[in-house]
Amino acid sequence: MSIENGSKVSALDVYKLGPLIEKAVEEDAIKWQEARKQRKTSTEITLKTVWGVDLTANINISPSIASNCLRWVGYENLDSEYTPAPRSFKSEMELMMGSAAHFSLLRKLSGLGSFEQDVKSKEGISGRTDFIFQNPKTQEWQVLDLKFLSNFGFRNIKREGISKELKNTKNVYVPTPEHRLQLLLYMRALRGEGKNVTCGNVFYINRDTAETKEALVLWDSKAEYEVKEFLAKIKEAVKKIQNKELPEPTVQSDYICGKFCPFFLLRLWTKICSRTNQKGIKKETSLGLQKSQRTSFFATGKTGKGRDKPAWFISPKPIKISKA
Ligand code: SF4
Repeated sequence: MSIENGSKVSALDVYKLGPLIEKAVEEDAIKWQEARKQRKTSTEITLKTVWGVDLTANINISPSIASNCLRWVGYENLDSEYTPAPRSFKSEMELMMGSAAHFSLLRKLSGLGSFEQDVKSKEGISGRTDFIFQNPKTQEWQVLDLKFLSNFGFRNIKREGISKELKNTKNVYVPTPEHRLQLLLYMRALRGEGKNVTCGNVFYINRDTAETKEALVLWDSKAEYEVKEFLAKIKEAVKKIQNKELPEPTVQSDYICGKFCPFFLLRLWTKICSRTNQKGIKKETSLGLQKSQRTSFFATGKTGKGRDKPAWFISPKPIKISKA
């Protein structure tokens, strides 16, 4: 036994493979992120060389990201200026486990409908549905979205607040606002392609227990109104991105910022910069960490919101400061 950095180290520690596995996963995640960026750039160069088409000006609005936050869409599209925080081992593993289960489940549905269908709308929304299905009884189309949730997230899917149309339908739950919006965007895009899509289904699966819950999203006048309102926000966001500015955040839950958004730490860092030597901080303080959480972040590298300190935090690269 020896003492290193004040902690006891056993000679047998040398046999532990955990650190190796964690490092391999984290490094692969960084390489994947770089390769994705490079692929995008090389596709843009090829299309420009062959067709003279400049795709760099194209703004891509993915329903899964837009339904969470339009500022996140801005970060993604201004990717030459903003870099997402590298994923931690924990978040990378959660993602891998989620996508493995996701694809296995979709394979079981093959033959019953079409999965992974690309959708595009004239507003620039472009994404891929999990599964679309023509109901043999109604002849109408339905869009299915699978969501694998932690125990905590799953318990928060409740029946409270169910619409009066669905009150008498047993065993259906209320989707989160962002999942509802995501499905509405798919439904609207598919309806624009001439498909009579009347219902969206969010199928929630508890990652820990394999319990399930289902939520129905009906295409009705309320849905049409919600989409119309959101499309107006998208239009504003597109204008901002075209001017190389970040759109206003549209996030409805701090949980999304803290747990899912890869730009959360960038925002956090932005705030730290803003707090010390930049202006325009006031709007930012309502989201993100409180003072006590920031203190804990400096001391321990833990945000207390499921995110660890990224490698670049120690010597951060200069980044553009958000003005919002
Ligand atoms: S940290 Fe929150 S407000 Fe910022 S881009 Fe992400 S989801 Fe939006």
